[in-house]
Amino acid sequence: MDSTAPRASHSTCSGIDVSFEFFPPQTEDMEQILWSSIERLEPLRPSFVSVTYGAGGKTRERTHATVARILNETSIKPAAHLTCVGASCEEVDAVARDYWDLGVRHIVALRGDPQNGPGTNFEAHERGYANSAALVAGLKKLGDFEITVSAYPEGHPESLNAGRDIDVLKAKIDAGATRAITQFFFENECYLRFLDKVRAKGIDIPILPGIVPVQNFRQTANFARRAGASIPSWLAERFEGLDDDVTTRRLIAATVTAEQVFDLVDQGINHFHFYTMNRADLVYAICHLLGVRPQREVSLSPLAKAGNERMRSG
Ligand code: FAD
Repeated sequence: MDSTAPRASHSTCSGIDVSFEFFPPQTEDMEQILWSSIERLEPLRPSFVSVTYGAGGKTRERTHATVARILNETSIKPAAHLTCVGASCEEVDAVARDYWDLGVRHIVALRGDPQNGPGTNFEAHERGYANSAALVAGLKKLGDFEITVSAYPEGHPESLNAGRDIDVLKAKIDAGATRAITQFFFENECYLRFLDKVRAKGIDIPILPGIVPVQNFRQTANFARRAGASIPSWLAERFEGLDDDVTTRRLIAATVTAEQVFDLVDQGINHFHFYTMNRADLVYAICHLLGVRPQREVSLSPLAKAGNERMRSG
């Protein structure tokens, strides 16, 4: 970057797109937290929101119910995560068909962690999809889904080498994926170097950076260990001594995430996918800094519109 040029992030940011990831709630309290977060983030008009699928498909019903409610009660386009671990092709196809019938057109297609946990050997179900590329191809046969897949700037725990990782990504794109979201990372250089390697292989689909605002450092460090993402020592130092100080931790988290996204804006990145952990405040603040502000008119889904009209006329 030219050191005399003004930072792109110091002019008013414009043209930034965002998307948000949620997980299906387990309890009524968590459900309320999720829905108040969705309500707060909806006016920011994310290009989509995605809902995760618990390891081994154990949140199948809850993921479905959350996606259905987003579709029916908000103006946001939901994407359903779907994995193929421990399930036959027929079972996976049935879930996908249900989504299609519901009106969901976007799937985040993942192989899923091996049944014995990350780091162990993946064994496909005997009548199941062999890998993520086969899953993408299977979904494309069922309907013209928009398919997003994963990418790993720091390598996946099963990664043999970076070249093989990019081959796996390419196979998913050849099978029909049109967008990737990365595992979260804190060193932007890792993501930018990964992008260079991917582009050098002729891959030109959007590779959205997965950004995790650190709501809870210990929890994030645990996730990172299992996901093969590194925690730089400077990040650990910033949160040092704050385990019992939620307020300061939140302020630090906002600062760290703001630094990360603004650095990426300076590098020309203009779509951010936030792992929200179902909490809106931090993400909302970062979006505000990025110039992503509430839009006055929220375009309602047909069902929500009908509901409003019923309320007006009744
Ligand atoms: P792939 O992209 O198929 O492979 C990941 C890596 O494994 C490759 O890059 C490569 O290093 C290695 N690999 C795979 N196949 C081969 C091969 N044949 N030879 C050599 N190396 C190989 N999990 C859930 O359970 N539910 C979710 O909702 C969920 N959402 C996610 C969302 C995102 C954005 C990301 C990044 C991950 C998500 N995961 C989720 C985690 C994911 O399921 C695990 O990381 C899983 O272990 C890999 O699935 P994948 O589709 O990413 O695998």
